[in-house]
Amino acid sequence: MKQYSNDLASRQAVVQALQALGDKNLNKGTSGNVSVFTGEGMLITPTGVAPEALLPEHVVHMSLSGEVDEDQLTPSSEWQMHADVYSGKPGVSAVVHCHSPYATILACARRAIPAMHYMVAAAGSYGIPLADYATFGSKELSEANLDALSTSMACLLANHGQLAIGFDLPAALKLAELVEEQAHCYWGTLAIGGPVLLDKEQMDDVLSAFMTYGQQEKRRDLASGNKFNQED
Ligand SMILES: [Zn+2]
Repeated sequence: MKQYSNDLASRQAVVQALQALGDKNLNKGTSGNVSVFTGEGMLITPTGVAPEALLPEHVVHMSLSGEVDEDQLTPSSEWQMHADVYSGKPGVSAVVHCHSPYATILACARRAIPAMHYMVAAAGSYGIPLADYATFGSKELSEANLDALSTSMACLLANHGQLAIGFDLPAALKLAELVEEQAHCYWGTLAIGGPVLLDKEQMDDVLSAFMTYGQQEKRRDLASGNKFNQED
């Protein structure tokens, strides 16, 4: 787990991560948001500042209960969803949320990603779950998100987008990118009759193989309570 703090380096990491989301075609405009856990609270991107205009001093430091430090901009409207991840999932250091195109298509069709490709296991589970719909920025959305993350390190948010967590920002970004790749792949298979799903034994083999990698083992620990579900 990477330790971030309310310093320039951590602020720069948040800025770079939001800009990287755009470079990877996972985010356009001001809809995406990024945060890191600082121990006392979190650093989170502000609302309404375009990624290309974002500077380290624009990044907002606030408590997990919503108190914003003095002289800060207004935090992302999704701050609650970020804060509740840090409160509810000890060990997580970074959260990335975006409306990446294919993840959002599936989220709008309310299609969780099943065990269709072995790499869904990179989220620590047998698929990428779908969080129930709730209004953006609401406590209900945050609760739905946390519920979906009880079995995974990433989820789709119904009629909204996707969210990925990690032990550091590069890991969360990489996972958000993987969710989008898997969503694109699933979308494609649905157009030609749907995927042939891997069975529990095949996915258990993949999850076991991934556990030989340090990060994956930690992911599996965090995404505890895995349930196998071949339904989409
Ligand atoms: Zn959003």
